[in-house]
Amino acid sequence: MAERTLVMKFGGTSVGSPDALRNMAQIVGNTRKNWERVVVVVSAMGGVTDLLLAGTAAAIRGDVDEVRKTLTAIAQKHTDAIQEGSLDPKTGNAIEAGIGELKNLYHAVTVLREASPRAMDAIASLGERMSIHIAAGYLNSAGVPAVPLEASTFLLTDSNFQNASPLMAEIPARARPVFAPFFERHEVPVVTGFIGATPQGVITTLGRGGSDYSAAIVGAAIQADEVWIYTDVDGVMTADPRVAPEARSLPTLSYREISEMAYYGAKVVHPKTIRPCVERQIPLRIKNTFHPDHPGTLILANGQATDGVIKAVTAIRNQTMITVQGGGMMGVPGIAARTFAAVARMGVSVTMITQASSEQSICFSVPGSSGKSVQDGLEEEFRREIDREDIDAIDILENLVIVTVVGSGLRKTHGVSGRIFTALGNTAVNIIAIAQGSSECSISMVVGKNDEITAVLAIHALIIAKENIL
Ligand code: ADP
Ligand code: ASP
Ligand code: MG
Repeated sequence: MAERTLVMKFGGTSVGSPDALRNMAQIVGNTRKNWERVVVVVSAMGGVTDLLLAGTAAAIRGDVDEVRKTLTAIAQKHTDAIQEGSLDPKTGNAIEAGIGELKNLYHAVTVLREASPRAMDAIASLGERMSIHIAAGYLNSAGVPAVPLEASTFLLTDSNFQNASPLMAEIPARARPVFAPFFERHEVPVVTGFIGATPQGVITTLGRGGSDYSAAIVGAAIQADEVWIYTDVDGVMTADPRVAPEARSLPTLSYREISEMAYYGAKVVHPKTIRPCVERQIPLRIKNTFHPDHPGTLILANGQATDGVIKAVTAIRNQTMITVQGGGMMGVPGIAARTFAAVARMGVSVTMITQASSEQSICFSVPGSSGKSVQDGLEEEFRREIDREDIDAIDILENLVIVTVVGSGLRKTHGVSGRIFTALGNTAVNIIAIAQGSSECSISMVVGKNDEITAVLAIHALIIAKENIL
C-alpha cells in the first residue's frame, strides 16, 4: 500500500503557549499512528509577527526604548516556552541566534530610519524561523522525532516582498529531495509557514496570515493526501464567532464556498490556500487544536448539500468605495478598462465591482488604506475627461464594510436576495451597493461601518433559523 502523507498546520494560538504546544504535540503524536508521513507547518507564536512589525515601526521612528522593549517581549515569549517545556539547550541556542539576528536588523533600521519591503520580510520571517525550533522541541519531548526545517530551502517565490507568489512550477522538484530523507527516517519535518525565498535565496513572505497558504503549497508539492489546518475554533463557522456568538461550525464546504468566504473576510483560512488544493483535489480540513475530537470542517470539490441555501456570512472591514461618474461617460470608449488599468498600476487590488447598467457610473471598492491614493490617481488619469465634463468627479466614500452571504445553493434558488434585503431593511440597514459573485455562490453588500454588526446578525439569524427557508 502506498504511504499516506498528511500536512498539519498549526496557527499562532496553537503554538502560542506551553499548554497549546503540549496539545499540538499530543495531536501530532496521535495522528502519526494513522499516517505514515506527517509534515507539520507552523506559524509564529501568537502575537509575535505583530510584535516584530511594531518593533520595526519603532525602529523607523528611532524610538530605541520601544525597540528594546519589543525585543525583550519577543525573547521572553520564546524563552518561557523553552523553560516550561524543559527543552534541550539546542533549542535555546536557535532562539538566541534568532534574537541576535533581529537585534542587528533593528539596529540597521534604527540607523537608516527606513525599512524596505525586503528588510520588513527579513524581520517578519523571524517569528516562524524561531517557532519551528520551539514546536520541534515540544514534539521531541512528547516522543515524536521532529526536525525544524526552513521553507526557504524549497519554497521559491518571486521577489514581490510582503506578498510574494510561489513559483509553483519549480517548487515540487525542489521540495521532494528535501522531504525524502525525513520520511525515510520517520521524522516529522517542522516547516516554517508564511515564508519563502527568491531563487537568489532572499527571504520573502506570502502576506499576513500566509501560513495556511504555506501548508497548501507544501501539500501540493509533496502530493499530500490531505491538509489539515489547526486553529482556535471548531472549523469554519456560519459567521465569525467573535461577531455572532451563536455561530455554528459547518461540517462540509466546497472549495468554491470556502474561497468566497476567505476572500470576503473569514480570517479562518487565508484566501490563497484553496488553489493549490483544488488543482490536486487535496481535501482540506479545518480543526480545533483545543478541541481535537471535534470533526471541524471538511472541504472538498463539491462539499455536500446541507439544509438551507446560504451557509455563512462574512464581513470585510475598512473599505472605500470609489465612483467614477458622469453623463458623458457613455460616449467615451474604454473608461472601465482605463479605470481598472490605472488602479492595477497603483498596485491596489479591487475588492468588489458594481456597475450601473446605464454606463454612467463605475463603482468599486478598495481597501481603505488605498482609497485616497486611488482617487488621486484616477483624477490624474481622467484629467482631460473631467475638464471636458464627460466625467463629473471621482467620488470616494470611506469607512465601509462588505458583508457577503455565501452558499452554493444561491445559484439554484429564486428570491434569496429579496429575503436578505428584506431582513436588512427590517433592521434599518442601508445597503450602499450590491454585487453578485460571478460564481453565483455569493452576494455582497456594501454597508456603513456602523451597520456591520446589525447586518451580519440579521443575516446570520436567517442562516440559523431552524427552517432556513431561504
Ligand atoms: P490562526 O492563528 O490559527 O491562523 P486566525 O486568527 O488566523 O488563526 O483565524 C482563526 C480565527 O478566525 C478565529 O479565531 C475566528 O475568530 C476568525 N474567524 C472569522 N470568521 C470565521 C468563520 N467564518 N469561521 C471560523 N472562524 C472565523
Ligand atoms: N505569522 C504570520 C502572521 O501573523 C502568518 C500566519 O500566522 O499565518 O501573519
Ligand atoms: Mg491565520
